[in-house]
Amino acid sequence: MLRRPTVIVFAALLSAVSAASQGQGTQAPITYRVTFPEPEHHWMQVEATFADLGQQPLDARMSRSSPGRYAVAEFAKNVFFVEAFDGNNQKLAYTRPEADVWRVSGHDGTVRVVYKIFGDYANATYLGVDTTHGHLNMPAAFMWANGHEDRGIQLTFVPPAGLNWKIGTQLFATSDPNTFTAPNLQYFMDSPTELSDFLASRFTVAGSDGTAVDFRLVVHSDGSQADVDELAKLVERLVREQMAVYGEFPTYEPGHYTFLLDYVPWGSGDAMEHRNSSSISNPRVSIRTAQGRQQALANISHEYFHSWNVERIRPAGLEPFDFTRENVTCCLWLAEGFTQYYGQLLLTRAGLAGQSSGPPAAGALGLLNTASRGVRSAVQMSEYAPFADGAGTFVDVSDANRTFYSYYGYGSALALALDLSLRERSSGRQSLDDYMKLLWNRHGKPGGAAPGLVGQPYSLDDLRDRMAELTSDRPFADEFFEKYIEGTDIPDYPRLLALAGYRLEAAASSRGWIGNVSVAETPEGLAVGVVGSAASGNPVTRAMAVPFNTPLYEAGIDSGDVIRAIDDRPATTAAWNEIGTRKPGEPVTLTVMRRGGAAIRKTITLKADPTVQRLVSMETVTTGQSAFRAAWLGTRVR
Ligand SMILES: [Zn+2]
Repeated sequence: MLRRPTVIVFAALLSAVSAASQGQGTQAPITYRVTFPEPEHHWMQVEATFADLGQQPLDARMSRSSPGRYAVAEFAKNVFFVEAFDGNNQKLAYTRPEADVWRVSGHDGTVRVVYKIFGDYANATYLGVDTTHGHLNMPAAFMWANGHEDRGIQLTFVPPAGLNWKIGTQLFATSDPNTFTAPNLQYFMDSPTELSDFLASRFTVAGSDGTAVDFRLVVHSDGSQADVDELAKLVERLVREQMAVYGEFPTYEPGHYTFLLDYVPWGSGDAMEHRNSSSISNPRVSIRTAQGRQQALANISHEYFHSWNVERIRPAGLEPFDFTRENVTCCLWLAEGFTQYYGQLLLTRAGLAGQSSGPPAAGALGLLNTASRGVRSAVQMSEYAPFADGAGTFVDVSDANRTFYSYYGYGSALALALDLSLRERSSGRQSLDDYMKLLWNRHGKPGGAAPGLVGQPYSLDDLRDRMAELTSDRPFADEFFEKYIEGTDIPDYPRLLALAGYRLEAAASSRGWIGNVSVAETPEGLAVGVVGSAASGNPVTRAMAVPFNTPLYEAGIDSGDVIRAIDDRPATTAAWNEIGTRKPGEPVTLTVMRRGGAAIRKTITLKADPTVQRLVSMETVTTGQSAFRAAWLGTRVR
């Protein structure tokens, strides 16, 4: 039996957590040793040792999915040169019962698996290895063992010589700066790690009980220390504003919260929340300018709000996370959508929203305008995430453009409606902040059996019950959930936004409308539902189904059809665009060639363009509207 590592980290402050970080059982921890022999070739080597296995075969496996992503990613595809050894360093054979599993039998109770893994995609989901960094999302990098999920984990990094790599992570530190621990698999997989010559900045904010909470920025970018410190000041302001929603911070188990920020042009854009850190990459941000730092805040605000909402206020479908498959939940409209709403709202409240300092209403405009309006409810859109989050990975034609609207936008629109409704019905005494605080107290704050685990994840019924509890109005909660969350009704945004002195402006309701449909000019005519065209030099990229409830759909015309003539004249892009200059109620006659050669002639009556363009402040804002707006958008930091 291997000795468990001695962990004396933050022992005085967090003795319970330190004990937890040594593992739950009496079995030896799983150990990993990570080396970077040739970072210029974009691979690293992992040695994983599993001891105390008894007689059972070991199923070492790569994850198929990663928390915070909702589609499968099949991380096993990047693994190569896999070897297994027993406790006496004798080589062992393995079989592959599943694409992600290496099954090792005939061992002596210990198996050491050694493998190399390729990764050149530095973002929050995958693995990126080069001479500037090792950027690790753990599920993308580490094999783990079925049946040993509760064991403690000890991990030692061996950075390449001469590159001055330091290590940024939410893993628990030890007396060796290159060795870290995690209390269990869930926590380990939740702990992205950046190894690079990064710059760091720290600040503390007093929690509700006065104790200082420690925040760290780990920044890999072309910025100077002064730029990083400048960004840290903005993040500090934002963190204070976020805390004011809940009135307290979560307990960040390693004793600090870490923002892992990668702004290098060779990275890929992504942002992911974790319990005690967030991992954000954006190749288009440079923090050397005030504008760049401003840009960085949008992701930071969203991901940091997740340290309450989703990391601790957690939907049952994500807890515990199943790394062997996609994880489905009812409630990404709340987990992601409400976070999207607050990400924007709290930047506004903190005075950090910059140019776009209007109310956080983009989701509402999107929901009113989407072609998929009414097709799937917010719950059903959430359940579609495993197909939408991996957009572009399927080769067949998709109708998602007319059947799917992102739970980010949908949920942020619902958050807006709920926030304004709660303020209205309580005459300003309650808001969405109170709902989030109630969810925090009932589902987040109670915590779990160990860091990385959530004890009281919520169901859809829990969310409805908490709404009834908050408002002491069961019919209100039932109606809101039945209509807008489980149903496909759209809240009355014009009325709700008027409470704060805003109104929605239509694009051009006086304009004739056939539907928001892409057409591409071809030698035969206008190909319906095709984006780009060979003739214009743009490659044909994807097909777009004709949206429901449009005059074109009702005329029975869809992708695959080619419009040969418009009012008996050749169908050109110019002739198509001219339709938009006609009036609602006017006719247009299309001659269409169908697959197989059939010709169809249809006269279509144009509708009024229903597109909502933007949100504007009313010309005259009353004192009541102005007070409503201030309570909603003003700072809550005292
Ligand atoms: Zn998110």
